[in-house]
Amino acid sequence: MHYAHYLNQEPLNLPLGKILCVGRNYAAHARELNNPVPTDPILFIKPATAAVAFQDTIAIPRDQGQCHHELELAVLLGQHLKNATEDEVQNAILGYGLGLDLTLRDLQSRLKEQGQPWEKAKSWDGACPLSGFIHGSAIDDPQSLPLTLWVNDQVRQEGNTGDMTTPILPLIAYMTRYFSLEPGDVVLTGTPAGVAALAPGDRLRAELGDLLQCEATVA
Ligand code: ZN
Repeated sequence: MHYAHYLNQEPLNLPLGKILCVGRNYAAHARELNNPVPTDPILFIKPATAAVAFQDTIAIPRDQGQCHHELELAVLLGQHLKNATEDEVQNAILGYGLGLDLTLRDLQSRLKEQGQPWEKAKSWDGACPLSGFIHGSAIDDPQSLPLTLWVNDQVRQEGNTGDMTTPILPLIAYMTRYFSLEPGDVVLTGTPAGVAALAPGDRLRAELGDLLQCEATVA
């Protein structure tokens, strides 16, 4: 089933283009994987074929080693952006939601050791469960939202969007120096600490403050 955007629970006639992502945008997460905190944002892209709805069942590969959850604030764009200012980015944001940047961690570690790109570890079909989005006008300050992920009723990730190294507006402005962003594209803004492996049967519950909640079971 193809992923489709929902905004305020209504289907949005705007196909997903691509998903732009940033690595190590929360210092505590960089430290937990023994990575240095970067000076410039580390960017990578997941194609639209990586997206699935963050509901019901989320399938992970069974034969590729550990698959880690990374819960992230997702930003839905409604306008074209290139070499954008922060004001232009602000005006282009349609809504906010939750994304899981699913990562085949063992494979990623091997690719990193060999100096190879990360796509096989992060951009496979199903590697990006996305929630529905909430209109930006409903959110006072997207830069101070709690992000929480429970796995089998235990808190695994608990962060706050206020802890991003590069905040949302400068991050997206930076992305547009390299990539044109189009209406329907989504930006994932990095994960707080607490990433760990998922197993079939795990029950996931994610919350963005009291604005948004989604649940799924791992298969
Ligand atoms: Zn991530």
